[in-house]
Amino acid sequence: MPCNRLKKLDTRYRKKYGMSMIENLTEIKEKGMDSFIANQTAKYTCPTCGGLICVHRGRCLTCKKE
Ligand SMILES: [Zn+2]
Repeated sequence: MPCNRLKKLDTRYRKKYGMSMIENLTEIKEKGMDSFIANQTAKYTCPTCGGLICVHRGRCLTCKKE
């Protein structure tokens, strides 16, 4: 089981940024690192310019699209 600090951080990130570290870790455990990285790359790639989307701001770092 994850420790309390991670659980709190996880709750905060889920509310604020729509992501969960614990879910990410479970996914890595179940499906493997390759599948996880492929999913994360798809999730955080800008559909407009192919740039990286910032998890904290929810927008592309290259073209600033939300
Ligand atoms: Zn972009």
